[in-house]
Amino acid sequence: MTKHVIVGGGPVATNAIETIRQFDSGASQITLVCDEPAHSRMALPYWLSGQIPREQTHTGDDAYFQKLSVDALIGTRANSLDVAGKTLSLDNGQTLEFDKLLIATGASPVALSIPGADLPGVQSLWTLDHTDRLLAATQSLERPRVLMIGAGFIGFIVLNAMHKRGWALTVVEREAHVLPRMLDADAAAIVESWLTNKGIQLHCGTSVQSIAAADDGALRVELDDSSTVIVDRVIVAVGITPNLELVQGTGIDVKDGIVVNQHMQTSVADVYAGGDVAQGPTLYGGDPEIHSIQPTAVDHGRVAGANMAGQDVSYPGSLSMNILDTCGLQNASFGNWADHAAEALTISNTDGHVYRKLLWSDDEITGAVFVGQANDLGMLTDVGMVKGIMQTRTALGPWKTYLKENSFDIRRAYVATGVAQKLAGMTLLGRPSQTRQFRFQGAKVSNQPTAAHANFVSTKAD
Ligand SMILES: Cc1cc2nc3c(=O)[nH]c(=O)nc-3n(C[C@H](O)[C@H](O)[C@H](O)COP(=O)(O)OP(=O)(O)OC[C@H]3O[C@@H](n4cnc5c(N)ncnc54)[C@H](O)[C@@H]3O)c2cc1C
Repeated sequence: MTKHVIVGGGPVATNAIETIRQFDSGASQITLVCDEPAHSRMALPYWLSGQIPREQTHTGDDAYFQKLSVDALIGTRANSLDVAGKTLSLDNGQTLEFDKLLIATGASPVALSIPGADLPGVQSLWTLDHTDRLLAATQSLERPRVLMIGAGFIGFIVLNAMHKRGWALTVVEREAHVLPRMLDADAAAIVESWLTNKGIQLHCGTSVQSIAAADDGALRVELDDSSTVIVDRVIVAVGITPNLELVQGTGIDVKDGIVVNQHMQTSVADVYAGGDVAQGPTLYGGDPEIHSIQPTAVDHGRVAGANMAGQDVSYPGSLSMNILDTCGLQNASFGNWADHAAEALTISNTDGHVYRKLLWSDDEITGAVFVGQANDLGMLTDVGMVKGIMQTRTALGPWKTYLKENSFDIRRAYVATGVAQKLAGMTLLGRPSQTRQFRFQGAKVSNQPTAAHANFVSTKAD
């Protein structure tokens, strides 16, 4: 019986497990090793904002692992790997033998090296424990004051959750504008004006010099621009780094992350990797990249699982994409959005908080940036359609000229070039996907309209 060992309990791991079982119906042994409960980091902001309880961030429980015949060693860390002997040593003294190993250890937040960075009120927001800590520290405060260092994608997801709580928020970003790895300067200026209108204090183009304890348990944050901010909590969100400890010294090829091919195989036979720890193929070719986002983690997990189960599944490559709600203003960027050499079509309405940029290679869209309000149905459907056009790598032919003249009519180009049909025919594993086998408290998926639907569809038949 083939022995699969999977390290990690995030989306890569759970999707790999379900995919292996989809193909082998329980004919192999699967052991999962994870130091945290299996959960989705993406769900942490919903818990932070009070929309869901902690348990709803979990993506598997004992019954689920039992149903899938998985020996789940939750709360256990993998300490070292012997690729020649095909064994993994755990922190509980156990040694696991494997035929196939998947490394899905994710990434960790980068720490700041400034005076005061180790004070108790300074933290990241990346794990269940971090979220617990922030909620516990702020629960007795009437209106917590929080300063966030770093204005990137994950930081702003957390900012949005704290804004929903009504907290007093300050952001410090070293680069000249917010979301520097997601938006260009013009799009970011629109986001900045929106956030300022919402009462969020922004300090761009400056760094935090030091943090010190102030009166009543508060923190005094000194900035390079000579300003001082007094807050209750500091969140450090200045980037992440792949968790590579396990592969160090093993001979597995590592650049910025563990290098994987289109089968999610590392340079060592029978060792696979995926998600935030892996540097894999991209949809537009070129050097492998780390795309630290949920969709890439899910794809990597499914492709790795299929290949571990003996299938021959090749991954077409991940599309870099970020879609973000900044306190009611939606932003998205896809693909090579920062390619200054590419032909670009841009529309900007600063007062209306609308921005669109499409980047082209011949008649193919290779990058896109969007900013627009959450209740603008046209903006939201256009984001989805441009993503579909890019994922199918559709050449738009004469529709390129049409879009230059009618940039808000993406729908016509999308329909005319048959993108929806192409998407419907695309499957990652060469067969229809299955729904996840875990639901929080066995909840059924509801298709009842809620207030949120009112923005998009009528709840009544006309
Ligand atoms: C607050 C937050 C919000 C996010 N929101 C979004 C979003 O809206 N959209 C989006 O696309 N992405 C989002 N992301 C990013 C997304 O969650 C990650 O890209 C995704 O979780 C990566 O999945 P993974 O399986 O590679 O790693 P992870 O989910 O990080 O899982 C890896 C697991 O392995 C464990 N582990 C590590 N080393 C060991 C070891 N040696 N032994 C045992 N266990 C180990 C880790 O503790 C962790 O539990 C968000 C992330 C955060 C933190």
